[in-house]
Amino acid sequence: MAQLVGWSSAGAAPLVARDVLGESLAVGPIGVSAATVAGLAGRQRGPNAATSLHGRAGHVGSATRPASNWVSITELQARWKSVEARWRNCRMDLLQACHRLAAAGLVVGTAGNVSVRVGERVSLTAKGAALGEVTPDDVAVTDLEGKVLAGSPTSELELHLAIYRRYDAGAIVHTHAPMATALACALDQLPVIHYQLLTLGGAIRVAPFQPFGTRELAAGVVDALRGRAAALLANHGAVNYASSLVDAVEGAVLLEWASALYLDASRLGTPRVLDEQQQAAVRASAVRHGYRSLSW
Ligand SMILES: [Zn+2]
Repeated sequence: MAQLVGWSSAGAAPLVARDVLGESLAVGPIGVSAATVAGLAGRQRGPNAATSLHGRAGHVGSATRPASNWVSITELQARWKSVEARWRNCRMDLLQACHRLAAAGLVVGTAGNVSVRVGERVSLTAKGAALGEVTPDDVAVTDLEGKVLAGSPTSELELHLAIYRRYDAGAIVHTHAPMATALACALDQLPVIHYQLLTLGGAIRVAPFQPFGTRELAAGVVDALRGRAAALLANHGAVNYASSLVDAVEGAVLLEWASALYLDASRLGTPRVLDEQQQAAVRASAVRHGYRSLSW
């Protein structure tokens, strides 16, 4: 589904094509037109290219002198192929993450959404997509300002973008996982009842309830994520972020496990909570044993 989303040229400057992942493709040969580029990209995309390639041609002058950064058609084809490969990998990683979450029982029906950031572009699951059944057609793309470049993104777009803007996140997972959501209906935070919660930064805060898809919800979650890789959303669900999709998914699985642990322990009495001194001792032990730092 890679597509050209625009191109521009000014005077003798090279025509520039930009794909959904933000890759700029400088087009070199004199006399190359927007239509030629569209056709070239279409051939790289296969038989259905013509129906989903959305080029917006700017003015293309009949330049007579080459610019230093103009490239040959062969080079352009190679660059486009590279963009196609990156886009395909990104999309497949996103689908695998969704299927993993579904297999772990963390999503119900069309609840939940996942995103991954590549440069200035964010790929997200589409609005109304059932994560357990997503296909390549269920992936949308926006820039960090929310401009939609492809597909129809999840209604929690603002939540994802707010986290990317505030934190150094490479991927975000939002679920209505049963145990985590149960805690989000009753607690103000999930305390550190097990040292593994330190890999998420410590006690997990519960962001105040706000309707889904609102800036107010996004702002509350961003605030609850201070120093944490996860947050609970009051009477709603959970959010995890990490530098990669794999780690974001594993974080979501860990949060659900810890939530179930809290609920089980609560049936036996009041769960003991690790105090600051005990948490510091765990972090020191992790460093001593060569694990990656547990401090977020
Ligand atoms: Zn939700």
